[in-house]
Amino acid sequence: MSVIAENIAALRERIERAAAAAGRGAGEVTFVAATKMNDADKVKAAVAGGIDACGENRVQELIEKYEQGAYVGAPLHFIGSLQKNKVKYLVGKVDLIQSVDSRELALTIAKKAQQLQTVQDVLIEVNIGREEAKSGVMPENTDELLAELSAIEGIRVRGLMAIPPNIEFDPKNVAYFEKMHNLYVDMRSKKYNNVIIEILSMGMSGDFEEAIACGSNMVRIGSAIFGPRIYL
Ligand SMILES: *Cc1c(COP(=O)(O)O)cnc(C)c1O
Repeated sequence: MSVIAENIAALRERIERAAAAAGRGAGEVTFVAATKMNDADKVKAAVAGGIDACGENRVQELIEKYEQGAYVGAPLHFIGSLQKNKVKYLVGKVDLIQSVDSRELALTIAKKAQQLQTVQDVLIEVNIGREEAKSGVMPENTDELLAELSAIEGIRVRGLMAIPPNIEFDPKNVAYFEKMHNLYVDMRSKKYNNVIIEILSMGMSGDFEEAIACGSNMVRIGSAIFGPRIYL
């Protein structure tokens, strides 16, 4: 077994244990490999290792690896911040765009999806830490954005995503995860057309168990699969 496959098997066990401890069944938490800065061969090893989906951050990198067949056999998600002028490269290739935080971005996605006669599944990214430099809709504006997006044909909102302030595990993240779960429950209770809220995407290498304990059903894990990223 490759190191990548071994890491994935060990992480899968931890995910299932955390899900069981939270009273949820095996298979209820989607394991997304955050593949940024790892080449096509490594991504292929992760797909072979049994992750549920690949999540990519940068459009250019996604296109390159897509053309190399990196994601064959796994659904593909876009998890990075997205500029409107790059949307055209994604729609038709990705199963889920996790990072929609404005009506304008949603309209751009919907227009492209309609051209391709498809419907693009999206998550609303919430800036749960209310950080100035971070993307995501402010928590208190989530409902309004959800209502706006429900009226747009060509997209379908499937849930919420968040990246809390601390990259490494910090006990404070639990408070953010809890806030996100409350928001998720609140948004699920609304009845909007065209909206099926069933995904809560939160938790990374350092804190996915805490996130699952707080109700996450989609974790995005990079360095615990591939090793630390080397930023040049
Ligand atoms: C890189 C990344 C992750 C994974 O981070 P790790 O700490 O390497 O697990 C998750 N979500 C997003 C949006 C990312 O960019």
